[in-house]
Amino acid sequence: MERLRVGDLTAICDRCLTPIPDGGGVLEVDTAAADRALRRWRAKVGTDPLAVFASTPGTRAVPWNTRHHSCGRPPRFPCTIAVERIRTWPGLLHWGSHLAGKYWLPATDWHDLTVRAVEPLRAAVSGILPAQPRDPHDGPIGDRPQ
Ligand SMILES: [Zn+2]
Repeated sequence: MERLRVGDLTAICDRCLTPIPDGGGVLEVDTAAADRALRRWRAKVGTDPLAVFASTPGTRAVPWNTRHHSCGRPPRFPCTIAVERIRTWPGLLHWGSHLAGKYWLPATDWHDLTVRAVEPLRAAVSGILPAQPRDPHDGPIGDRPQ
């Protein structure tokens, strides 16, 4: 049985919305998609050294995903971080420093992901939401008849 270790940070699966125990999942991004997004952006902005991916209209960052190993599949060319390696603030800082050396990082939403960790209220979404998030695979959401 997998144990859920308490750390500074909790990984929540994007698919089933439940916590991910050590050894149970990953934080990952599709590096090939980030490469393609960066190349499209570079073709658009040219050689402007002051251009910034995130502030260029029409760009869309490639999302980092958090998932159980059993929820979904990895992309073909993933950059993967096991959740147990990013449970602490120093761990998050370590990975941020490591990833800063990756040319494709600006084409991902790593910055937003870390801001949401530091300022959790930003992770909240406005609108009409279920008070109790449910597993989208097992339970209905809203008023759909059972
Ligand atoms: Zn899951």
